[in-house]
Amino acid sequence: MTRRPDLTADVSEILLSEEQIQAKVLELGRRISDDFAGRELTLVSVLKGSLPFMADLMRAITIPVQIDLMEVSSYGGTATESSGLVRILKDLSSSIDGRHVLIVEDIIDTGLTLNYLVRYLRGKNPASLKICTLLDKPARRIVEIAIDYRGFQIPDQFVIGYGLDYGEAYRNLRFVGVLRPEVYTDPD
Ligand code: 5GP
Repeated sequence: MTRRPDLTADVSEILLSEEQIQAKVLELGRRISDDFAGRELTLVSVLKGSLPFMADLMRAITIPVQIDLMEVSSYGGTATESSGLVRILKDLSSSIDGRHVLIVEDIIDTGLTLNYLVRYLRGKNPASLKICTLLDKPARRIVEIAIDYRGFQIPDQFVIGYGLDYGEAYRNLRFVGVLRPEVYTDPD
């Protein structure tokens, strides 16, 4: 794939500006801090897409938290479609037994990845397990997921930026934008 040096040239529309994202992260951080006050909270984020969201959200939370990172890959799908077959590439570093756990996700699309993760983490006996996602794309949901903290609901478009990639690129954009379909339909 040939990429232009200006990453923003491949963006057809800015869906969420840096300012909108930061305001929402602060709001979520305040709600989470209130809801979990006095409790032992562990944030579990899923690499790599959730990295910027996790970094910003944890600093918007004002109660003590521990953090842990997992990495999963879905396989059998394509670069823009997930398959629901999930493999754990990096597991938790610490036990979550008896702890209140909040999964910090970048985006929920079909829900298949998170459905797998929730079952997996429930098996580790946390005191509670809740879900926070920056982006919710409900149009293509296959598995019902109860989202406790939702940043933005977005339409059924393939988005990039603020951690989200296409072919490992665009993660470093500070906004969330729609990738020009030509980029993935005409990879040369
Ligand atoms: P799900 O299993 O819910 O269908 O998808 C979860 C994963 O698919 C996300 O964590 C993300 O890696 C990827 N994904 C789903 N929709 C998008 C999208 O619009 N843009 C990007 N870059 N990744 C997406």
